[in-house]
Amino acid sequence: MTELIEEVIVPAREARTIEVKKGQILEIVDLEGQQVGDVAVWMAADPNEYLSPSHTVSSLSKLVPEVGDPVLSNHRTPLLKILRDDVGRHDLVVPCCDPERYAIDYGEPDHGSCLASLEKALVDEGLDLPLRGEMCWNVFMNNVVEDGKIVTYEPPHAAGSLIAMEAQEDLVVALSACPQDISAVNAYNPTPMALRVSA
Ligand SMILES: [Zn+2]
Repeated sequence: MTELIEEVIVPAREARTIEVKKGQILEIVDLEGQQVGDVAVWMAADPNEYLSPSHTVSSLSKLVPEVGDPVLSNHRTPLLKILRDDVGRHDLVVPCCDPERYAIDYGEPDHGSCLASLEKALVDEGLDLPLRGEMCWNVFMNNVVEDGKIVTYEPPHAAGSLIAMEAQEDLVVALSACPQDISAVNAYNPTPMALRVSA
């Protein structure tokens, strides 16, 4: 039986951070369903070592990690181990959405983005951590490779769906509740998420 240590609500279209100690359980929870989160993770002891989706895909030789798999850093250190996954759909290929994505691809330069939300959360919480869009794991994103193309479908998962992972190191975690409402990413309706740490 685990005990909840901290819960952080991530409002729709915003981002928040949480600390997770080695051995504790991190949950990323979709409170209302069909929502994608963009997560960045840093080693507390050395923020230049951080979650790397591309290194994870490389070492696992699979596009979507599964229960039992580790999620790796840019130095291939296991940072998190997946214990439970209610959704089973994730994207580790594309970066998080950023201002240029909306300006260039959608003609909406003033649209909110995961990258801007994450940058604001780090500033608001006084954290000086390196951040780039390609560091982000797109949790619950229903991207499927079809004939060499990446096709984005609406996520079908229900309210309360979560992924639970055991921290393998002391970590700082940032989560953006993705504000994308122009494509199917969040079923056209961005909603809040939660970060939970338990032990
Ligand atoms: Zn996004």
